[in-house]
Amino acid sequence: MQDRRRATPRTDLVLADPRLREAAGRLGDRLVRRAVAAAQERFRAGDLTAEEVPDAAVAALPAAATRLRPVVNATGVVVHTNLGRAPLSAAAVSAVNVAAGATDVELDLATGRRGKRGRGALEALRAAVPDAGDAHVVNNGAAALALVTLALAAGRSVVVARGELVEIGDGFRIPELLEAVGAMLREVGTTNRVRLADYTAAVDESTAFVLKVHPSNFVVSGFTASVGVRELAGAVGVPVVADIGSGLLAPHPRLPAEPDAASTLRAGATLVTASGDKLLGGPQCGLLLGEAGLVQRLRRHPFARALRVDKLTLAALEATLTGPPPPVVAALAADPAALLARAQAIAAALGPPAAAVRSTGAVGGGGAPGVELPSAAVALPAGLAAPLRLGAVPVVGHVERDRLLLDLLAVPPEDDAVVVAAARAALGAAVEAG
Ligand SMILES: *Cc1c(COP(=O)(O)O)cnc(C)c1O
Repeated sequence: MQDRRRATPRTDLVLADPRLREAAGRLGDRLVRRAVAAAQERFRAGDLTAEEVPDAAVAALPAAATRLRPVVNATGVVVHTNLGRAPLSAAAVSAVNVAAGATDVELDLATGRRGKRGRGALEALRAAVPDAGDAHVVNNGAAALALVTLALAAGRSVVVARGELVEIGDGFRIPELLEAVGAMLREVGTTNRVRLADYTAAVDESTAFVLKVHPSNFVVSGFTASVGVRELAGAVGVPVVADIGSGLLAPHPRLPAEPDAASTLRAGATLVTASGDKLLGGPQCGLLLGEAGLVQRLRRHPFARALRVDKLTLAALEATLTGPPPPVVAALAADPAALLARAQAIAAALGPPAAAVRSTGAVGGGGAPGVELPSAAVALPAGLAAPLRLGAVPVVGHVERDRLLLDLLAVPPEDDAVVVAAARAALGAAVEAG
């Protein structure tokens, strides 16, 4: 070990490799030095010869100047929070590229005067949801709810069913958000049941609005009752705000129980809030759709500026709405027979022990709890889970009953070759080890 330490190729000599010099210009010194250090470490561990160090450093370079790694989502969960929720469509990525430079995001090129920020995205939203009088976009779903509550209910009360006081994930709890921006919660009903009379009895002169929250990550079954937006809107005499969560803009045939913006507004909701990076399949953002006067009030609220979205988000959202279906939408429409054929082709390319199996995918934290999406997967030994996560292109599957399933539901078909290469490398390493 001492000897290998002394024999380690010197950093400055490795860095003189033209490929690494070019990479330093593109990625910056830090990431290149990190890749060199990793290769030197592998030399010291006896993994590489001195001659192999520069090649290994080049191979370890990231594609871009970020420590974020592109990952193949083979979990079978379409909207996976830990994998960044919705992947952007190619159309959205090109739009982001355009917006990344100087753009007319707030300039009217015809007059040379200031223009309305994000008009392309807002027009696309309004075209997608004609039932909305107006639309506004903020940083995420939580910000949308915070803005509505702050603008309408600070120092006042919000009536909400106990069964809808949900935690979304990572400790984010809707009731805590409402209280943090100054609203008083008026809880009605019990965990499993609430009736219209509970709501009407709770509404008084301090009530700013009645809130409906979609429990997007669990289902209550058994002896249950809830009150829909239509019934509430006709009876409570105050605005009904609906946090639908997932961002479906119109009904989805495969997700009949999932609320959508158009139907919710048509049922009488004054305002709908939702996330942009769940079932809509766009960038992280929060959508506010509904009564024009109210939306304009929210847009002019002093806090709106603190929740404002970036030009990159506006561009990606517009392209998500107007471009071809984004990956999330494509995954929801995937044909199980086509998924199985892809799994069979991958398993055949790999040979035993790989096998194609039918599987069950899920929408994920993004909505539609309990909905099982028929899918297909490549089954591999469970021991390959870690090597596949740590490979050149990480592939994240899920372990089920002692085997690793690489589910194809959320894998774009063009990534099948990546899955084959990654699994081959992991299987090869496993054979070598043992
Ligand atoms: C996801 C979700 C939120 C939070 O949205 P973010 O975009 O994660 O901030 C709020 N309410 C519901 C019902 C949700 O499903």
